[in-house]
Amino acid sequence: MARPNPHRPFTPDPDQMARAPDVSGNAINGLGEAEFRRPDVVYWSTDTTKIPHGKMQDYFYMRSNAAEGFGEARERRRLINEAPLPPLAPAPAQHAPEDWTAMLARFVEAGDCEMTGVAEMNPDWAYAGVTVPQSRIIVLGVQHDYDRIATAPDWPAGREVLEQYTRAGAAAKKIAGWLREQGWEAEPVTGPLTGTITLIPPALACGFGELGKHGSIINPEFGASFRLSAVLTDAPFAPTPPRDFGIDGFCRNCRVCEDACPPQALFPDKKTVRGVTKWYVDFDKCLPFFNETHGCGICIAVCPWSRPGVGLNLAAKLARRAERTGD
Ligand code: SF4
Ligand code: SF4
Repeated sequence: MARPNPHRPFTPDPDQMARAPDVSGNAINGLGEAEFRRPDVVYWSTDTTKIPHGKMQDYFYMRSNAAEGFGEARERRRLINEAPLPPLAPAPAQHAPEDWTAMLARFVEAGDCEMTGVAEMNPDWAYAGVTVPQSRIIVLGVQHDYDRIATAPDWPAGREVLEQYTRAGAAAKKIAGWLREQGWEAEPVTGPLTGTITLIPPALACGFGELGKHGSIINPEFGASFRLSAVLTDAPFAPTPPRDFGIDGFCRNCRVCEDACPPQALFPDKKTVRGVTKWYVDFDKCLPFFNETHGCGICIAVCPWSRPGVGLNLAAKLARRAERTGD
């Protein structure tokens, strides 16, 4: 039985809905399409005139810029993302692939980010029409302050997301700068407006966790409470393997996020999206609430894996059960 939800029923602001396009975001995302195709940019466009939901993205900015500290935080992020990278050193440094990957630990130790991973670049991760010339993608994860995320859907949660995207962008710039000083071209990819690639597939491929029912990645260390950025390069980093903790199976028997989502945007089962069966968030239902709450975040906050100290115990329990049942 569904738990009572203090945010239901949700009636979107008519001013926002007047900006909604005729086309469904789920159709742009390819919900129900059996054939594979690359993703189209549905939201977080670098140019809001170029996407059907651009006026709704403008509404998001308009509302959140009026909330405490958002405008300043966004400006800080812009300055970081637009800062020039150091010049490219003439001779590329040579290291074994495993040594390149091991060197990323220094950025975690310095507190720039909490997670790093590497995947061989797959062209299918790029948006339709985008070619990524680099062979490697380094993915970075930065953790939210859980107490701030737990205030969702109030504004401090949205501010925290913005702050962590800023931090993730700064980490990507720092690593790209370091690589250029090592003589390797490197391109930082800062979210949420990446413009080139979707970050979730490479993050799954490089071991950041499994996709949860709420459409975000979950792992035992940070739950779903983190943000991503990336660096594209040809420096020969060794890929880090994907990880499976049984979280996908856990989501089949849990409905905490489904019950907590005010506009009921989460499905009880997986959907086929551009030829892949996976957990999927109903874009058209989520977006109006998301926009009116500076980024919502309820599904991330309520996910049991996100609660500090819970994820590692849950993973150990799932591992013991898998050992007993041989699954
Ligand atoms: S972010 Fe979207 S899917 Fe998640 S709880 Fe909020 S409205 Fe629902
Ligand atoms: S709240 Fe439950 S169903 Fe939703 S993503 Fe987390 S574990 Fe999965």
